[in-house]
Amino acid sequence: MRLRLIRIIVSVIAFGVLTGSLASVGGVLWGRFARWLAGVQFLNAALAFSLSTVLVWLILTLIFGRIYCSSVCPLGTIQDIVARLPRLGARAAAGAYFYSPPLNRWRLAMLIVTLAAIMLTISSVITVLNPYGLYEQLGTWLFHPAKIAAASVTGICVAGIVMGAVLVLAFRNGRTYCNSICPVGTTLGFISKYSLFHIDINTDLCIHCGKCEEVCKASCINLTDCVVDGSRCVNCFDCLPVCPNKAISYTHRRHQLADPLMRRIKNPLAGTAAGMNGCTPTSEPVNNPPCSK
Ligand code: SF4
Ligand code: SF4
Ligand code: SF4
Repeated sequence: MRLRLIRIIVSVIAFGVLTGSLASVGGVLWGRFARWLAGVQFLNAALAFSLSTVLVWLILTLIFGRIYCSSVCPLGTIQDIVARLPRLGARAAAGAYFYSPPLNRWRLAMLIVTLAAIMLTISSVITVLNPYGLYEQLGTWLFHPAKIAAASVTGICVAGIVMGAVLVLAFRNGRTYCNSICPVGTTLGFISKYSLFHIDINTDLCIHCGKCEEVCKASCINLTDCVVDGSRCVNCFDCLPVCPNKAISYTHRRHQLADPLMRRIKNPLAGTAAGMNGCTPTSEPVNNPPCSK
């Protein structure tokens, strides 16, 4: 609960400062803070050859997972806000999320396109694929429409269509853009898959109520196999307070079933039948070990 609260406070501050800056609201100190925050955005830092900033984010991701995506990225926060709208109050059940398999080939393809655009210095493509660049475009649409009139029509249309698509995807399915298109999310996901701290399901305690899966905006909780895909988890911590049995946690431990007889062994029948607690093995790249036979 505390982790989730801290995450919300940090993301609201970062989002407020960056949005205020785009709207030209705030004093000198605010402006400096906003410039610093914009400078530490992952792709901005990479494009500016600020290797120390990039390295810091990579190390933080290796330790804590994708906290970048749940704290300082304004495009992540606005997706959360938009995703929340159809899930307020009584409509929460109707807007429940469910697990979906990772679109790894698509993610990799978008990352390659981004790297190619950077090497060929195609700025229009870089802007559209840079989460902060895209957010800046939205700010221009909202706060400085006069600048739009002076810009290239094609660039405006492409950015507008992409931004609209991101928001529609967020409204319907939460962090779909983050886990299928965003090159920063894909890069950090490669590392967060092996992060020290991660979301872990204790299969001894899990009663398969499905509540954690229903609130997971990243659609990365696979209750069939009792695993969380660490490459897609955006560390929002929304799944922790809803668990009725404290079975899901943010921890450095990789859970092992309490009963040694239920621990994973090489099983020639693997994949053919459900385990004793209803879980099946998986071949997917995941963070924590699947339930065993
Ligand atoms: S995946 Fe991309 S858009 Fe989503 S929060 Fe992370 S950096 Fe931002
Ligand atoms: S598993 Fe899903 S709900 Fe839980 S922290 Fe990760 S993204 Fe959020
Ligand atoms: S909310 Fe807890 S008990 Fe329910 S499925 Fe998720 S981990 Fe298991």
